[in-house]
Parts: sequence; C-alpha cells; structure tokens
Amino acid sequence: MKVVVIIPAAGLGTRMFSAPSSKGKKPAASKQFAELAGTPILIHTLRKFATSPPIAEMFIALRANEIAGFRVLLEKEKDLGIKKIQAVEGGQHRQQSVANALQAISAAPDDIVLVHDAVRPFVTEQIIHDVIEAAQKYGAAIAGIPAVDTVKKVERTAEGALITATIPRERVVMAQTPQGFRYDVLKKAFDEATADGFTGTDEASLLERCGHEVAVVMGSPRNIKITTPADMELAAFYLRSAS
Ligand code: C5P
Repeated sequence: MKVVVIIPAAGLGTRMFSAPSSKGKKPAASKQFAELAGTPILIHTLRKFATSPPIAEMFIALRANEIAGFRVLLEKEKDLGIKKIQAVEGGQHRQQSVANALQAISAAPDDIVLVHDAVRPFVTEQIIHDVIEAAQKYGAAIAGIPAVDTVKKVERTAEGALITATIPRERVVMAQTPQGFRYDVLKKAFDEATADGFTGTDEASLLERCGHEVAVVMGSPRNIKITTPADMELAAFYLRSAS
C-alpha cells in the first residue's frame, strides 16, 4: 500500500487579492504563492507532507503560468527532493484540478490518495496519520472540526440573506483537508460526478452522492484554509508561535 498526495494549488485567490485593475499591470501572485516568513504558503504545506514517512508521491495542480516558477522554488528545497513531486496543470474549478492530478496517478485499487488544500499549511503529522488510518478502514475519511457557531440555513436576497432554518450544531462538522480515499473509491466517484456533470467543493461530497460512507477524524482549529488577508495575519501569528 502506498500513499499519494494531491495538492490542488491552481486557485486564483480572488478573496485574497483584488483583480488587477489597469491594463499592463502584472497579475498578483495567487494566494498559494503569497509568502509567510519569506516562504510561499504552498512550500510550507509541502514541507508538512515531505516529512511524513508513508507518503510516496505528491502531485501538485498548478495554473499553467505558475508551473515553471514552482519548479525553480522546488530546486531550493532539499527536504522536498526526497519525495517524487510532479506538477500538473489545474482546471477551472478545484474539482477539475484534482481530476487532472488523479489522471496522472498510477496506483493500485487499495492505495490511499490524500487530497489537501495548498493553502492549509498548519496540517499536522497526527492529522495526516489519522486520515490515512481511517481511509484504510472506511475507504474514505476527512479531517473536520465541530461547529462552534450556530449554523443557519438562508435564502439569499438582494440586501443579504433571510434565515429559513437553524441546523442543529451537534450535527454539523466543518470539513477540512486532508481528505483521504482508497484509489478505486475516489476514481469511481470522480468518474460518476463527471458523467452526471456534478461539481462539489470537496472530494467527500462526490463520495456522499454515491452513497459511500465517509468517516470524520478530528482536525484542528489551527488547520485553517488561508483565504482572506485576515487569515494571513493569523497564519503569521501561528507560524511565530510554532517556532
Ligand atoms: O478557492 P478554494 O477555497 O476552493 O481553494 C481551495 C484549494 O483549491 C486551494 O488550494 C486552491 O488553490 C485550489 N484550487 C485549484 N483549482 C481551482 C480552484 C481552487 O486547485 N480552479
């Protein structure tokens, strides 16, 4: 059994930066290449997986114009050199980026594929281990944390939103990554989603619609998805407190 990691890193990060306004201006680097303590977020994330012993290979989905720059960054990372790392071109949606990476993988049915957001650099060895273990046991597993806020279902309006229901908090989990799957289970779910034209915001949702059970293991409140400028401030704080 081998473990392969897919890192979708082809997002534009529009919630992080405003779009370039004037013509001829160089577009801002996407959020996965924004720097934390002088190192791109994506590299911080890859380091976490590079030091995790069961992981054999990593496939990184990138925007076409960022692949060459990524290879230059990799050359400077000695620790990452011990793993096989392959860059693939990402797609228009996260799901398409993961699908492109999945196409590039050669694996046995019971090998484990982990999918992890490029912009979650605070994942821990423990979480990675727990997701792999649960994915072996159940075929599919994700990291998640209990909801601390009361969660409302809403209908969007021109002015904002109107509440239509309250979802019992004890029945809610905030999904994180890594999300781990047996290769055959994930491949089948992607093939079915493609055939039905379904697009989800995470991999687990593709399994759920096939009726496959997905286990949840404890993630961490620190395993944030860096999305907005405020998240960058929090990430800088976490990084300082870890060193
Ligand atoms: O934008 P979102 O929160 O869905 O991003 C989650 C992860 O998916 C990020 O690491 C982002 O780079 C990646 N992504 C991707 N291809 C896209 C959109 C997002 O790889 N087209």
